[in-house]
Amino acid sequence: MVRLPRNGAFFAQPGGIKLRRGDTAKPDLHSLRTTQTTRFKRRDAMRIALLLLLTGIANLAQAQDARWIDLTHDLSSEAVFWPTAEGFQLTTDAEGMTDAGYYYSAYSFCTAEHGGTHVDAPVHFAEGKHHVNEIPLDQLIGDAVVIDVSAMVNDNRNHQVSVADLSAWEQKHGAIPTHSIVLLRTGFAQYWPDAERYLGTALKGSEGVAALSFPGLSAEAATWLVEQRHIKSVGIDTASIDYGKSKNYAAHVALMTHNVPAFENVANLDQLPATGAYVIALPIKIRGGSGGPLRIIARVGQ
Ligand SMILES: [Zn+2]
Repeated sequence: MVRLPRNGAFFAQPGGIKLRRGDTAKPDLHSLRTTQTTRFKRRDAMRIALLLLLTGIANLAQAQDARWIDLTHDLSSEAVFWPTAEGFQLTTDAEGMTDAGYYYSAYSFCTAEHGGTHVDAPVHFAEGKHHVNEIPLDQLIGDAVVIDVSAMVNDNRNHQVSVADLSAWEQKHGAIPTHSIVLLRTGFAQYWPDAERYLGTALKGSEGVAALSFPGLSAEAATWLVEQRHIKSVGIDTASIDYGKSKNYAAHVALMTHNVPAFENVANLDQLPATGAYVIALPIKIRGGSGGPLRIIARVGQ
């Protein structure tokens, strides 16, 4: 940031008014002052112009620093889905040169709502709350904080992010601002799309659910974020906002009874700063859906 000097700084060295030795007549102070003022004005104008130019260059440099980060995994047959859900399927309806001489491709897709990078709409775990098409845009767009718990997760892959973890983050970075989008970085995105490592199991069905093992947000911390920090939404780089071993999905319930949506299977959180990212998370707009595929991106820098 370039700071303009205080006005007075330009007038520190007026100079330029001299009387010759032997002059007896008093100088014409009025005309001297006028000359001075004109000269200072011209000098000030040049200095201000230079400062504005430098400010412009600095802003341009910062603007070039700013960039968009894609926080979305590709949706494909490799994408990780919940053990009880079918994976993503893309089938080819047309692909190739037509008889009319132009290329044409079109596909159909079939997917469960809750697979790949996706949003859980509040109605997923709270009756009467927002369906995916009803989530206010304001809850999907805004300033984000990234809470890195990867160190704790390294020690325990079933770690649940606690209120103490959030407080420790706040000690370093200041209070989580009201109406933030809170993104939890466990480091599990590095295992994507290897279900065995990412989910803790490659098994499908109820056997797979029983063997799930990955970190998540504790119910207490979810309640704290909603009630004490009034967050817009929350995201995590695992398959579920609740940890894999959860039986009652208490973090989902705590968030969603307050109409707070959750983004799951978020990618590339290691590329975001702890504060200062701006997130846009726009899901597919299925009327009456409980969630769906999400394109989530973040702008970092100025
Ligand atoms: Zn989900």
